[in-house]
Amino acid sequence: MFTFVMITNLFEMYFHTNLSYQPVHGIDNKYLTPSHVKDFYASLSNDFTLNNIGYSVNQNPITSITWGHGKVKVLFWSQMHGNESTSTKALIDFLHFLNTNSVDDWKSYFKFLVIPILNPDGAIAYTRENANQVDLNRDFIQFSQPESRLLQQVYKEFQPDWCGNLHDQRTIFGVGDTDKPATISFLAPSYNDTKEYNETRLKAVQAIVAMNSKLQKYLSGQIARFDDGFNPNCAGDHFQSLGTPTILFEAGFFPNDWHRNITRKYLFLAYHTLFSTLYENDLVDNKLEDYLKIPQNKVSFYDFICKKVKINYDNSEFITNFAAQYREVVHEGQVQLVSEVVAIGNVEDRHAHITINAEGKNIAFTNYAPLEIGLNNSFELENGIKIQNGLII
Ligand SMILES: [Zn+2]
Repeated sequence: MFTFVMITNLFEMYFHTNLSYQPVHGIDNKYLTPSHVKDFYASLSNDFTLNNIGYSVNQNPITSITWGHGKVKVLFWSQMHGNESTSTKALIDFLHFLNTNSVDDWKSYFKFLVIPILNPDGAIAYTRENANQVDLNRDFIQFSQPESRLLQQVYKEFQPDWCGNLHDQRTIFGVGDTDKPATISFLAPSYNDTKEYNETRLKAVQAIVAMNSKLQKYLSGQIARFDDGFNPNCAGDHFQSLGTPTILFEAGFFPNDWHRNITRKYLFLAYHTLFSTLYENDLVDNKLEDYLKIPQNKVSFYDFICKKVKINYDNSEFITNFAAQYREVVHEGQVQLVSEVVAIGNVEDRHAHITINAEGKNIAFTNYAPLEIGLNNSFELENGIKIQNGLII
């Protein structure tokens, strides 16, 4: 008991006293559009400069925020995939941190340029792609879309020393062969086909090792390394190949945190650790081995598995398993999660964030619907276990 209290206090001390993590209120839902951050932007002091840097396909303005007057220039962009808002929220929390703490030493060391929502049309429509149905993260050879051209133009004018490419990843990703979800994944993207490590890429590696070693204290075993296959169409690979150390951040799943507000907190800690490390000049050489020790992302999870359930239709009786995944639906301005059956039979090749063992008991789905792909995952087992939309009630 004493140990537990002590650890809790250390955690509290880190987040509330030393670091003062204060999440910005009113942005807890996954649906995050420019109108959700307007009030926050208005709360920023004169130390921040907001610019309308251009327009999306649907003529929505795209906003950048700059802060600081130092030599080390950092360019971060988020929500180039419109439905990936967790890393944006962590970025908003980080700007709030800069706005409400005395960080003068950072102000004279860094110059930040952040684009919180690069794809406002996708954010509003809650799609990965922009309004032309183009994945902006596959547009860095052609530059066919205004949003990707804009990022390239900002990069050329700003000439950053560091780039951060901010995303969310699906709940299907686990950490290597373990049974842990990939709550955060990092990548130092490749700059060539043979995936070599040059000085630029190694800087990103060192930064990731620093963040990983801090975050492992809180997210033990829940950090992974994203696939590093070279794709010059991707923003990260593109900027890495232009000689700017670039880091991919992927916000993933933390147990029971379906709207990812816990992941958001740890991502904030990742950003803070990165900038503390750069400020303290604490990047350490020869860290490639430590980087490669971070297990790779692996598709290894369903959201939900129900094992050994007894099905009884048309006088035939059999025992089977099924798996369900959440689908995200925007309803009345909020993302709602709808749990649907996605696999029936052999589902043992993956772990699950929620596992129910029916031990051969009878199952009754809501409205006595037959078990089939796409069915809403709401049911009652003979032994009294009730599931409502994928959650135990
Ligand atoms: Zn993405």
